Amino acid sequence: MTEQKLTLPEAFVKKMSALLGEEEFELFLKSYSHVPKKGLRANTLKAGLAEMVSRIPFETQPIPWCGTGVYIDADERPGKQLAYNAGLFYVQEPSAMIPAAALNPKPGDRVLDLCAAPGGKTTQLACALQNTGFLAANEVVKSRAKILASNVERMGIKNAVITNMRPDQLVAVFGCTFDKILVDAPCSGEGMFRKDPAVAEAWDLDRVADCARRQKKMLETVDQLLKPGGELVYSTCTFAPEEDEQMVEFLVESGKYQVLPIELKGLSDHGRPEWTKRGCADVAKAVRIMPHRAEGEGHFVARLVKVSSDGADLQPAFSKKKSKKSLWHRASKRDLKDYRAFAETVGLCAELEGTPMIYQDQLYVLPEGLAPGQLQLAKWVRPGFFIGTFKKGRFEPSHTLAMALKRGEIQSVYDFNNDDEAYAYMKGEPIPYQGSLKGWVLMCWQGYPLGWGKASGGAVKNHLPKGLRILKK
Ligand code: SAM
Repeated sequence: MTEQKLTLPEAFVKKMSALLGEEEFELFLKSYSHVPKKGLRANTLKAGLAEMVSRIPFETQPIPWCGTGVYIDADERPGKQLAYNAGLFYVQEPSAMIPAAALNPKPGDRVLDLCAAPGGKTTQLACALQNTGFLAANEVVKSRAKILASNVERMGIKNAVITNMRPDQLVAVFGCTFDKILVDAPCSGEGMFRKDPAVAEAWDLDRVADCARRQKKMLETVDQLLKPGGELVYSTCTFAPEEDEQMVEFLVESGKYQVLPIELKGLSDHGRPEWTKRGCADVAKAVRIMPHRAEGEGHFVARLVKVSSDGADLQPAFSKKKSKKSLWHRASKRDLKDYRAFAETVGLCAELEGTPMIYQDQLYVLPEGLAPGQLQLAKWVRPGFFIGTFKKGRFEPSHTLAMALKRGEIQSVYDFNNDDEAYAYMKGEPIPYQGSLKGWVLMCWQGYPLGWGKASGGAVKNHLPKGLRILKK
């Protein structure tokens, strides 16, 4: 195992040593000198684990609690792989794979990821839903919400909406309608110290107290969004009992929630009742990943069921009719003429699964579970699946559409001859081409789309969005 040196805040050392006791604290402290392994999780919307592993040059070992996750060595650079650009995997800290696996949504569920950026858990939830049901991913920080949108796009997710709002503002948009909610709360990040020493520098005891206050407020809001009988997973990447066990105790004492067991492999550590304020025994059903006991940075995860029906009558405040002021309208057959012409030329089925809506010159498909009347209520980053833009007399397909397509769903395809050619495309270069294809072509690496190109005059012109181009291999 690779070694590293890290200075921990004094108050943190004192607190953890009191919590863990001398013997365990020594092991805990020792774990800080180890460089953590990285994790990759297969994007099963595109490829299964074995298929993903066959497309990367790394040695992998299974992550016990996530059937689609693998450890790779700390020195590897997975973000430089074409398989990354093709959305075959998400780079995710191994213990961060537990919360979405614990929530375990089933196809058709209505799911909310309340604190979603950069999107590790959103993309994992999307894999479980397999583009069915409804996935709302929210992020309060705008710049982070854009990163979330880019990850959702790369992974080819079609049934998600992305909002950029405070949790309490979501109640008026969605009401009490979710089957499952994930609250991966902003926290004091004690489990990140080893991976990111800047988090250790920013840490102090006041920060822990502030985070706990914010988490409590967030959990009160969740009650107005989660259906009775619905499930909540609450997680943090901190060790602080104020943000972990004591938050679960708060939920249990409200009388509205009961803790459920988390049945995943390889989890031996659990929530500690002695770290609650009033000895809440049920917190023992929650799980902890501690870096001296498992190969992961540190996470606390609790799964709860809502047993009260308070708030169940809260419905979203939208009317089925769209307001006159709305900039959205439902796409008519006539509106879709240029889109259909594009679909026909590239050999793509023109039928759109869901409600086609137009915002100015952009075509979206709303996922099932979002009504047109809700569109004017939220601050959207993505109100659904973005198909493309209407230009004068033609339709320009979106990168989002390219990333969600499967090789067999479209006829106009260019398969890169080798990795060098695919890297040239990722750098924004045109690709020399003498074949018979004309116009829009889906550029595929080993059968997986990287983006669009446009064939004409001996080359395929590069249509990869500028922000996604790589500067060097
Ligand atoms: N779930 C994400 C993932 O797996 O990639 C990580 C989420 S991170 C632990 C917590 C997120 O909560 C951050 O992106 C942060 O910007 C956001 N956040 C910060 N303050 C918030 C607030 N008051 N309400 C909701 N989210 C907040």
